[in-house]
Amino acid sequence: HGSGKAFEALKSDYILNHNKIENPEDTYNFIDNKFVKSSATTWFDLHDPATNNLVTRVPQSTPEELKAAVDSAAKAFPEWKKTSLLHRQQIMFRLVGLIRENWDRLAASITLEQGKTFADAKGDVLRGLQVAETACGITTQLTGEVLEVSKDMETRSYREPLGIVAAICPFNFPAMIPLWCLPLATVTGNCLIMKPSERDPGAAMIIAELAKEAGLPDGVLNIVHGAADTVNFILDEPQIKAISFVGSDKAGRYIYSRGSANGKRVQANLGAKNHACVMPDANRNATINAIVGAAFGAAGQRCMALSTLVLVGEAREWLPEIVEQAKKLNVNGGFEDGADLGPVITPQSKQRIEGLIQSGVDEGATLLLDGRGYKPEKYPNGNFVGPTVLSNVTTSMKCYKEEIFGPVLVCLEVDTLEEAIDLINDNEYGNGVAIFTNSGATAGRFQRDIEAGQVGINVPIPNSIVGGNYFYGKAGLNFYTQLKTVTSLWRSEDAIATKASTAMPT
Ligand code: NAD
Repeated sequence: HGSGKAFEALKSDYILNHNKIENPEDTYNFIDNKFVKSSATTWFDLHDPATNNLVTRVPQSTPEELKAAVDSAAKAFPEWKKTSLLHRQQIMFRLVGLIRENWDRLAASITLEQGKTFADAKGDVLRGLQVAETACGITTQLTGEVLEVSKDMETRSYREPLGIVAAICPFNFPAMIPLWCLPLATVTGNCLIMKPSERDPGAAMIIAELAKEAGLPDGVLNIVHGAADTVNFILDEPQIKAISFVGSDKAGRYIYSRGSANGKRVQANLGAKNHACVMPDANRNATINAIVGAAFGAAGQRCMALSTLVLVGEAREWLPEIVEQAKKLNVNGGFEDGADLGPVITPQSKQRIEGLIQSGVDEGATLLLDGRGYKPEKYPNGNFVGPTVLSNVTTSMKCYKEEIFGPVLVCLEVDTLEEAIDLINDNEYGNGVAIFTNSGATAGRFQRDIEAGQVGINVPIPNSIVGGNYFYGKAGLNFYTQLKTVTSLWRSEDAIATKASTAMPT
């Protein structure tokens, strides 16, 4: 966690000894391009979710360390802003190359700390890498506009960096989400303060090492750690101009309102209860496979997990096959070959998920598949929950209302498309949705009437946001820059008027 070598050693230790890490090292802060040991008095123990063995201790960075990160960024900003776009683009190219070279190492860190399977962890890295790759095209993306107002007058628009910006990351995508923020924030000329999740900061620390190697100057990226104290510091620090947050609903709504009240720009992607509406005319095999993959992949710990199924009409007859497919999934330690899903993040999370399954049973749902108590042979101490399917769920049940964030699929049944749309629109989360159908007319109707920011048609892609600021693409660039317009008048002839006019020209 302090250097690449140390991590390599940890990783091979893990694979050789399978589940025991000798002499775990503490996680460092990354300030002014240096890995520095924290003098924290509060530490978070980070356990491997597959074994519950200690991997590292993550500091609650001290107020002095948080201040040092901001000072470092403030010092770096004026020079960084002045660097040419081509210079920043070259750094991005190198970063992309280094992430590719270190792909396995990043993925191994994710499997070790977060628990997801190694194959899935590689996807986590790739989704972030693709944002870095897009950032390499900055020279054609950050163009301004010119409006010729009249013969000698024109208005030009520029996009300028904000200054110091911050990222607050969740545990479920330890590489992807830091990489949603780092490339676009820095290539546009900002300095970034990142707070990874205190539950799995390892991938972000490797990314910091790679960013330094790629040539990011001192202070352009700083990483601090901790929980609410660090977040509150970020929310209240006047020099931080914008915050990117991804995480749960509760934390996100708090961060959005306190950050905005302090005059900061905030983008927040929150929790969800993503619904899939399944029509009986859908392609049966493809739909069932898509749903089982999206519901149980990453042990259901994806913001875009399709956790809620609305089966319309005869599609309810597909339930036994969904259960059969779910049973085929191999639940195991994430480094094991053939593992389809790993453990959930913490013992508390496992307990919460199992409690929500029980609440469904208590409230009258039918437990078609029960993943509670599942223990892979080699990992008796891990936080494992097997795929679970609850049917006959109603909208008043707790297991419907709360985000479960585990490998649990809750199924509701309705008779018509209209009922499905009404049910989904009534859900309180800012959800993403998907519909599975072979009818273009049905899909069109759904797309028009559904109230969601992201709609998948025969593809389970949704995601949820609050406040309307998207993270990447053009919208991401706009988030990290502010518009400056310059209106100029260069008279080609001397003015003839002899007296100044005080009225607005009409
Ligand atoms: P979380 O909200 O617990 O933590 C996210 C971050 O907020 C962490 O860095 C954490 O330290 C901080 N935090 C947590 N509680 C806080 C509090 N009370 N005050 C201040 N800061 C606090 O989320 P998580 O459990 O790490 O991540 C899972 C959640 O993230 C799920 O709800 C998931 O749906 C959501 N998520 C959404 C998207 C999306 O794009 N919509 C993507 C990934 C994850």
